Amino acid sequence: MASIAFIGLGNMGGPMAKNLVAAGHDVTVFDLVPEACADLAQAGAAVAASAAEAATGKEYVVSMLPAGKHVAQLYLGDSGLLAQLDSSVTLLDCSTIDAATAREVGEAAAALNIGFMDTPVSGGVAAAAAGTLAFMCGGSAATFERAKPVLAGMGKNIFHAGPAGAGQVAKGCNNMLLAIHMLGTCEALEMGARNGLDPKVLSEIMLASSGRNWSLEVYNPWPGVMENAPASKDYKPGFMVDLMVKDLGLALEIAEASGVENQLGKLAGERFREHQGAGNGRRDFSSILQLLQEEA
Ligand code: NAD
Repeated sequence: MASIAFIGLGNMGGPMAKNLVAAGHDVTVFDLVPEACADLAQAGAAVAASAAEAATGKEYVVSMLPAGKHVAQLYLGDSGLLAQLDSSVTLLDCSTIDAATAREVGEAAAALNIGFMDTPVSGGVAAAAAGTLAFMCGGSAATFERAKPVLAGMGKNIFHAGPAGAGQVAKGCNNMLLAIHMLGTCEALEMGARNGLDPKVLSEIMLASSGRNWSLEVYNPWPGVMENAPASKDYKPGFMVDLMVKDLGLALEIAEASGVENQLGKLAGERFREHQGAGNGRRDFSSILQLLQEEA
């Protein structure tokens, strides 16, 4: 079992760190919020007074932070972890951040011969708690091999997407596609309903036909069609509109930096921002159906 520092114990990081404790690892945690640390102490983790204290002497550092600026602050600069750790450590950043910052940290780590991977996740709070997250990893093959046993304590599908930043690019591609097929599914169901079709029957038809997709299969956006989907629970998340807007913004940064037009991705970004602006940021992203219905 490994010695692991875990930094960032929010909605995702808290349950992920608990799963590492439950898997038998020696886990030391740090978060700016003392209550989050106290919760992990109850689960059996040691608590440090700073990220540097948590990380010193550990085999792994795992971070789960809000955005690129927090990740840059944790790892880079005179007071960052890279300046304080040696090459025996492996750094795994599970946060969803811009690919440019992930590459910058990866390259700074490589220059010091320290293994770093961007390892963003797919799956929300429920998957974090159940230990069933998917990890998309960007870094060297050697770092990926070292990362696998630790990531396996928090998830079940672990992919090596490519070099530093590739995990964030994979996440951006996936979530942009998710936004597009959710919007497309809502448009199809709304059009059918306005023409007198029962959305449940139409869903069954499309599931057995070439319109089949994940939104239709496991996350139907029409209330009542699928008992356990957020749509049938007043759009309680699930995956919040705020997070979808964040992820679409990151995906479009990737598109712009690589000269890809992505008209559908841009349109999805506009639609989800519009929905967010109407006060729906903390609702499940499948509530985008209501934006279409309000335009009736
Ligand atoms: P959150 O806001 O609940 O948690 C972030 C935690 O980081 C907070 O506890 C905060 O105090 C802590 N933190 C911030 N700066 C810190 C620092 N310098 N040192 C130590 N701790 C610090 O966010 P979350 O929902 O857990 O999401 C974390 C990341 O996971 C984000 O990048 C998000 O986009 C991504 N993500 C979230 C979900 C989801 O469904 N919530 C799903 C997939 C990916």
